[in-house]
Amino acid sequence: MKEQLDILGADFMAALAEVKSAEALKELESEYLGKKWKLKAILAGVKDLSIEDKKTIGVAANTMKNDFLSALANKAVEIEEAYFAQIEEKEALDVSLQYPSKNLGHKHPISHTTELLEDIFISLGFKIEDGPQVEDELHNFDKLNIPHNHPARDVWDTFWVSDDINDSKDIGERLLLRTHTSPVQIRTMMSQELPIKIVVPGRVFRYEQEDARHTCNFYQLEGLVVGEWVTFGDLKWTLDTVMKQLLGEKTELRFRPSIFPFTEPSAEVDVSCQICSGTGKVKGKNCSMCSATGWVELLGSGMVHPTVLEGCWIDSKKYSGFAFGMGIDRIAAQRFGVSSSRMFYQNKLKLNEQF
Ligand SMILES: [Zn+2]
Repeated sequence: MKEQLDILGADFMAALAEVKSAEALKELESEYLGKKWKLKAILAGVKDLSIEDKKTIGVAANTMKNDFLSALANKAVEIEEAYFAQIEEKEALDVSLQYPSKNLGHKHPISHTTELLEDIFISLGFKIEDGPQVEDELHNFDKLNIPHNHPARDVWDTFWVSDDINDSKDIGERLLLRTHTSPVQIRTMMSQELPIKIVVPGRVFRYEQEDARHTCNFYQLEGLVVGEWVTFGDLKWTLDTVMKQLLGEKTELRFRPSIFPFTEPSAEVDVSCQICSGTGKVKGKNCSMCSATGWVELLGSGMVHPTVLEGCWIDSKKYSGFAFGMGIDRIAAQRFGVSSSRMFYQNKLKLNEQF
């Protein structure tokens, strides 16, 4: 019987050495120590032995059972350690690994165009000014010669700040999203010494029907020069110089008489369309940027209205000035050959990555 025990012990150890998983270990435990355990089968014959032999075999069997249990426990620890070692290896940080290349991106066409415009104007001696996007009525309209109930206000489809806020305010103090960057001209004239020579790039908002040339928010750049002997000739030279630097020497400008409340005389300025080279046609089809006219309206301009100067405490008999405003989005569309400036706001990487 002792021999049977020795064989059983050897078999167990051999089987244990082969075990590689927690499931196999459980099976082995059940086979040797479970309900139908092999050891129990051997011990069934003990009843026929003498008392001394019963004692010897009983102790040996018990010792063997304890040996099995401790060997099983050790194996369980071994399997667990191997499992965690494997995970550690799998999840180890390999600093030499290649990582997917990152696209660093670049400036948006509108930012690029704004900075280029700023550089050109700085080179001509202009200063850059900035102002609030949520503006009051006084600076956005009244001081620009567009008083309350003036029909010209209808031209600027305005986003007003909610009635909850505006109802408690007096006329002139009511808040709106600025419809142009002109309020910054007013703020500058009211706070700075003459002569003034500034440009104001910034975001403006209109309640517009969107199409290829109109969006409800866009970027404008306005310029203002006020001093002694400032003439319309200065305005024409300035815009001609800037547009040629911006769009190329062949760019032509066309001044058309116009009416703005804050300038007198006033002119709309068109530039020859860069998309169709002024022909009105692209690949035989009508150019959507210039509506097949060959010209794109890029600027509004004129001599600052005396009422505006006086409203900012500037003597209009002694001083004069010119002002202009342009849509940066439209200029960006012209520069980059994009047929609709609305595309700049659609967050399409496919478009932006081309520039
Ligand atoms: Zn065109």
